[in-house]
Amino acid sequence: MTEVWIIAHDATGGNALACAARALGDRVVAISLGAGVLPGADLSLTVQVSPEVPVEAYACAVADLLSARGAQLVLTDATTTGRLLAGQVAARLGVSPLTASGVVRGNSLQVTRLVYGGLAVATDEVISPVCVLVVAPGALTAEESVRAGQSEAVSLTPAGGLRLVETRAKGGTSVDLTGAKRVVGVGRGFAAEADLELARALAVKLGAEVACSRPIAEGVNWMPAERYLGVSGATIKPELYLAIGISGQVQHLVGVNHSKVIVAINSDKNAPIFAHADFGVVGDLYQVLPELTKSL
Ligand SMILES: Cc1cc2nc3c(=O)[nH]c(=O)nc-3n(C[C@H](O)[C@H](O)[C@H](O)COP(=O)(O)OP(=O)(O)OC[C@H]3O[C@@H](n4cnc5c(N)ncnc54)[C@H](O)[C@@H]3O)c2cc1C
Repeated sequence: MTEVWIIAHDATGGNALACAARALGDRVVAISLGAGVLPGADLSLTVQVSPEVPVEAYACAVADLLSARGAQLVLTDATTTGRLLAGQVAARLGVSPLTASGVVRGNSLQVTRLVYGGLAVATDEVISPVCVLVVAPGALTAEESVRAGQSEAVSLTPAGGLRLVETRAKGGTSVDLTGAKRVVGVGRGFAAEADLELARALAVKLGAEVACSRPIAEGVNWMPAERYLGVSGATIKPELYLAIGISGQVQHLVGVNHSKVIVAINSDKNAPIFAHADFGVVGDLYQVLPELTKSL
């Protein structure tokens, strides 16, 4: 029987990871750091975490528990907390963590990951007895599964030296683009911030989230950083992605090329995005968008 271990730090994300982990083994065991019993796991080792301690402070104790239980394959999600946990757990176990854009378990474990800013894909064969993987969104196909999973309470001692003083909600609205079925992406083809209303009106008609290329978020600051897509932003897997006034540089494509259907609107017929789009409109977004929105 092949066993896959996950480290969960929130109930929803942890359960999604437990379901995805099933693609790699017969039995999923979760170390649940304050995330409760996960219905997607066969066994949840539940840890009562102190609200005064950052969850990463449990990393060394988690690594020791994994060692004691003989875990060989350990997964975290690709959130900031997941990555922090993976790095510290892997260091304690004496291996390097890998960020996986895909995983295949055959005779050996093969992990694909993006390199050179998303220009190429490297495939690594895991030869160490223990492997810690950060699972990028879309790397594993999650099957919704509910087990009559068992649970066992375990007590772990966090590392000292850090005390959580305060947590507060970020300003603005928060969005989970990774779960969106339709996404409208805006780029530098928009000449002014107010013009984004054209894309928002279309998104309302489509029931879509609005996202953007990096310069829109980190250059002109017209949208929050959590809404940009790409190698250093969010990765999405919607049924429909509309790229409007976006040239289609590789760093952007890495975040959107798992979309089922890509539609591009761009005034330059040679824009690279057209080589990756299922449908393309060569035209001025200022003419195309009002017409498109009106027709829906
Ligand atoms: C290390 C690194 C990491 C990066 N990470 C990311 C990332 O994660 N995500 C990301 O998006 N970028 C990232 N970038 C930036 C990336 O290389 C591109 O610069 C960026 O994606 C370009 O954004 P854009 O397509 O909006 O702008 P541009 O490349 O300027 O494209 C604008 C497009 O709009 C079209 N256009 C202009 N006017 C109109 C009009 N009226 N109607 C229709 N079309 C019009 C133009 O023809 C053009 O194709 C990264 C870069 C580096 C170096």
